[in-house]
Amino acid sequence: MSAILTTPLSPVPVKAHKHRVCVARGDGVGPEITDAVLHILREASAPVEFEALELGERAYRAGHTAGIPDAAWEAITARGVLLKGPITTPQGGGYKSVNVTLRKALGLYANVRPCVALHPYVLSQHPGMDVVIVRENEEDTYGGIEHRQTDEMVQCLKLISRPGCERVIRYAFEYAHRNGRRKVSCLTKDNIMKLTDGLFHKVFEEIARQYPDLEAEHHIIDIGAARLATKPRDFDVIVTLNLYGDILSDIAAELAGSIGMAASANVGQTLAMFEAVHGSAPDIAGKDVANPSGLLLAALMMLEHLGEQATASSIHNAWLRTLEDGLHTADLMNETTSKRCVGTREFAHAVAARLGQRPLVLKSRAVNDTNVPQLPPCAAQPSIAPAARAEKRCVGIDVFLDWNTPGRDAAQLAPHLQAAGGALFRLALITNRGVRVWPEGHAQTLCTDHWRCRFLTQESHCDGDALLALQQRLLAAGFAPIKTENLYTFDGERGYSAGQGE
Ligand code: NAD
Repeated sequence: MSAILTTPLSPVPVKAHKHRVCVARGDGVGPEITDAVLHILREASAPVEFEALELGERAYRAGHTAGIPDAAWEAITARGVLLKGPITTPQGGGYKSVNVTLRKALGLYANVRPCVALHPYVLSQHPGMDVVIVRENEEDTYGGIEHRQTDEMVQCLKLISRPGCERVIRYAFEYAHRNGRRKVSCLTKDNIMKLTDGLFHKVFEEIARQYPDLEAEHHIIDIGAARLATKPRDFDVIVTLNLYGDILSDIAAELAGSIGMAASANVGQTLAMFEAVHGSAPDIAGKDVANPSGLLLAALMMLEHLGEQATASSIHNAWLRTLEDGLHTADLMNETTSKRCVGTREFAHAVAARLGQRPLVLKSRAVNDTNVPQLPPCAAQPSIAPAARAEKRCVGIDVFLDWNTPGRDAAQLAPHLQAAGGALFRLALITNRGVRVWPEGHAQTLCTDHWRCRFLTQESHCDGDALLALQQRLLAAGFAPIKTENLYTFDGERGYSAGQGE
């Protein structure tokens, strides 16, 4: 090994100015891993002063249904940065997840999750894996808008907006651009969800054209996820919708080595929150065995966000050296590179003791403010101009009915609906769970008590009065509409999914 690699680096100078940021130790293993991380930051003279907040179980018990007291909201918005330990979401109705609430309420729209293999010190099926997942953080089914509509049917709304797509996709390209990455891959299911996932894909293509130096590609999520699991080196930066990103990043973290090593940055226009990807791990809480690395890497992303790249690099190098020296927490123990199994606290002390050293084999970071990952500054994001208003015409309505007549035969239902349609509306189709059952259904189709009945206007468009009159006729005929969706065209283009046979 060359001498230069083993020579201790000059220490990072102690700065007079300190960033004031919030820290919440969280639940389960949260307090012990947070204490471990704060110990390392203190020993590295990180120029940060922490304001402690109470989020999670104690706040839930005090009656805050989202686990966030008012004082915590004020502190987070005033300081702009939060380092957060994992939080236990209580089971049962009425409680909201702290994580989801913070991400949505504070506009933390991009969730950046690097997944890097450190084989052979952290065993990975894919040595060399180095993928960053940028997950959309606010929209999709995570709006939590759910309804029970009939005895048999519940629904969850998937909401995707153009500005929401634009900012997270641009963020992914900016991240790739600033960090010398070569490619951005977009993963959606737009072969099925043509409007929602289709919009995400379309905006991806638009923004990709503004970054000609970066390769851009799209995969359908199922084959994309399979490829990521088998050939992660084909990927570089991935941008995807909220639910897919949630699942994919846990898989990617495990592929890289361990969920206990994965960190995430939740970034918004003015605020940012940094946390480990894993949860509160109640099964090992209080035992001094949890790996603090996920939260430590999150804290390093926080330092990078604050412009303290030198300190982040110094700690990162000491952490890599600790892993190389074979001091491993229980989740990382292996027969080839582990020398001793250490607890949470001892691991933190080992990292602190190695400050000023760098790894001998793994790739170290320069401590001179270059060559380190950069989170694109949120304020640098161009504000998104509202989309030009299209000519919007109402051309019909989908009426959802709770109809539970014995036999559940759409052929019996259709004549009543046709009569209610009157002269202005034509019954175009009836579906059950999205499957066409009229006209020309299949006997094999399972029919529930939930029917979507599509009425299209016989004229060029219809107004609200005509739609209300139609619903009144349905009520008068004894039907129970659960909900309606108006059908619009935008500049002549259909703004609703086609029903088969229309
Ligand atoms: P989990 O991530 O807490 O645990 C899954 C498994 O990984 C467990 O076997 C655990 O022991 C292990 N593990 C997790 N972190 C580890 C670490 N640092 N070192 C070693 N092993 C580790 O997932 P879960 O059990 O599904 O969730 C527990 C609680 O955490 C739930 O209440 C859930 O809602 C919450 N949660 C919170 C967050 C967050 O705060 N960001 C994220 C996910 C889950």
